[in-house]
Amino acid sequence: MKIKHRISNNWESNQSKIMQKHGFSVEGFDSIEIEENNVYFEIKPYLDKWNAMDIRYPEFTKKEIKDSLLSAKNGSHNHGYPMPDDDLGYLNLTYDLTNYCESCGIGLKQKDSFRIKNTPKEGKKRMFQLIWVNDEIFVDTSLFNEVFKPLGIKSKKVLKYKKEIAFENVVQLVIPETEENLNLKDNPKEDCCECNNWKYQPMPQGFYPNYLNTIAPIFKSKEYFGSGASAFKRIFIVKELRDKLIELKIEKINWYVPTK
Ligand SMILES: [Zn+2]
Repeated sequence: MKIKHRISNNWESNQSKIMQKHGFSVEGFDSIEIEENNVYFEIKPYLDKWNAMDIRYPEFTKKEIKDSLLSAKNGSHNHGYPMPDDDLGYLNLTYDLTNYCESCGIGLKQKDSFRIKNTPKEGKKRMFQLIWVNDEIFVDTSLFNEVFKPLGIKSKKVLKYKKEIAFENVVQLVIPETEENLNLKDNPKEDCCECNNWKYQPMPQGFYPNYLNTIAPIFKSKEYFGSGASAFKRIFIVKELRDKLIELKIEKINWYVPTK
């Protein structure tokens, strides 16, 4: 694993000159991806002074991802928005909002089916997520029957928006939540001053720690992740299921963060 930084800025000419001295050619609106090494720590005080955007992230080898017995999902096909998407109408329709905090997004509890406009074309995006909904997964029914159902995973119906009829070709996976804590001591947190809850910032900062108990082939963290008004629980998938989905070319290997 390497720790990398994606650094973006609107570089002024004197800043470009300083960057050039350290071996980086940047001009105007520009971004670079560099490893976290001595050179990075040399330029960091400048980046801080200039308020350059600096996103820290891990880069894993394929072997590290493949060897991991449990992976966190950090990428997906998307297929549109939960409906109705105006004034966040889907929130009222789909969730119990009793413990929901509008400020940080924590506390949603699903009470009803998701409504979507349509399903992906046959054979495309056989597993997908909806924009704004990072902790639910939708799969085509044939994939559900072939891969998920034999593992004891349950499904929920998904309704066609306005018609209120269940789709025959897509279902939502029922993903259980673990009670076990995930201790990410190096992962920055975000506090909410409205509800006093907190969540981890969503960008992984390295391997996730492994759970003592894998409660299901696919499950959600107890903790929330997210930034601003968005909060979601991280989805974890065991190796066998992950490898199957990659082998079937449904999922991409770089959508998975290994655990250790
Ligand atoms: Zn809150």
